[in-house]
Amino acid sequence: MDRYEAYKDLGIDRDVYDHCEKVIGELRERFSQIDDMAEFNQMKVLDAFRKEQVQEACLNGSSGYGYNDLGRDTLEKVYADIFHTEDALVRPQITCGTHALALALMSNLRPGDQILSVSGRPYDTLEEVIGIRQSKGSLKEYGISYDEVPLREDGSFDLKGISSKLRKETKLIAIQRSKGYSDRRSFSVEQIGDCIAFIRSIRDDVLIMVDNCYGEFVEEKEPTDVGADMAVGSLIKNPGGGLAPIGGYIAGKKECVENAARRLTSPGLGREVGATLGVMRDLYQGLFLAPTVTASALKGAVFAARIYEDLGFDVLPDGTEERYDIIQAVTFHREDALISFCKGIQSAAPVDSFVVPEPWDMPGYDSKVIMAAGSFVSGSSIELSADGPLREPYSVYFQGGLTWPHAKFGIMNSLQFLVRDGIIDRSKLRC
Ligand SMILES: *Cc1c(COP(=O)(O)O)cnc(C)c1O
Repeated sequence: MDRYEAYKDLGIDRDVYDHCEKVIGELRERFSQIDDMAEFNQMKVLDAFRKEQVQEACLNGSSGYGYNDLGRDTLEKVYADIFHTEDALVRPQITCGTHALALALMSNLRPGDQILSVSGRPYDTLEEVIGIRQSKGSLKEYGISYDEVPLREDGSFDLKGISSKLRKETKLIAIQRSKGYSDRRSFSVEQIGDCIAFIRSIRDDVLIMVDNCYGEFVEEKEPTDVGADMAVGSLIKNPGGGLAPIGGYIAGKKECVENAARRLTSPGLGREVGATLGVMRDLYQGLFLAPTVTASALKGAVFAARIYEDLGFDVLPDGTEERYDIIQAVTFHREDALISFCKGIQSAAPVDSFVVPEPWDMPGYDSKVIMAAGSFVSGSSIELSADGPLREPYSVYFQGGLTWPHAKFGIMNSLQFLVRDGIIDRSKLRC
């Protein structure tokens, strides 16, 4: 069977297909390393399911107050096992990653305390949570102050800067693992561990929280394995495995997690309430699939990097570097290229493939943004998706892919669109 026939029906030209296959041929060893990681993490997840005796009754969910919800309480133990923490809070009532992070901060800080971000400016949406950007209800309004230590020129932690900014009132250190949508590099768990060890050598009484979004199951270790008091993330990214329809988690020290539970519901009630309605099966099954889904997304990211660096575009990370999250940036320096790329990704989606993405004025951004997303779970970024602001350097941030064949097709289709629109010349394709 000529596999091209399948792609031909999807509108891919022979030369585009051949080019992609040549690139994939060079990635076999890399993909095998990614598969090894998925295997390791699959066993870690399965071990936790077995240890906590996940059973059919856990999948049912509860209504009303949700007292004695076996599935919810067991899932939290499973997360705590995976993250090697004392405890975890994993709830559908945590609406997204920003909410999980806000909850971890609001519940563990009191007036007079200070947050110190040591990985530079945190993720966009946290600016309003903290009050870096004026916002009603921010931590700043509650008397919680903020300071940050920018990263060094080479993207590493500025240890000198950190030690000079640690104050008596510094209560919590925030570290962001993934670059998110900035142009720095993501941190490895090992690098985070070294930074934590340094901080602990000066002050052992500060809480250390890691924004773990996009990092779960990419490496063998998680930040809580190297001394973080809390790892925080979203279930519509890696750990939800594409099936979780909502949710966030905080895994960490017992006291930190209990504080978060009391803030999420109310003092006195804490974690005892919180019905899980009908989502437990998806949270369990998604977690079970998360290591291989993350591996698919990683293969897609590496493939995209190799395709586009080969054609002369700047990519971050490049096709050979170690990966610490699932995000791939490609810089086009051309508006039309960014738009074509996103149209190609959108048209590759299983849902809304016929929709044509257009640049729009998204709230909170200072330029137009284009987004491609045709996902089963609205806004899910473990599913194939891409977005970028319409300004220099016209970078697109690409992530996700529930299966490797789908991630592969998405990238192939983006290339098809760039060729079709005359942005990449056919003569540059390797045939
Ligand atoms: C996605 C993300 C968040 C916020 O998560 P939302 O679910 O979009 O609110 C925070 N930090 C990082 C690094 C992220 O990638």
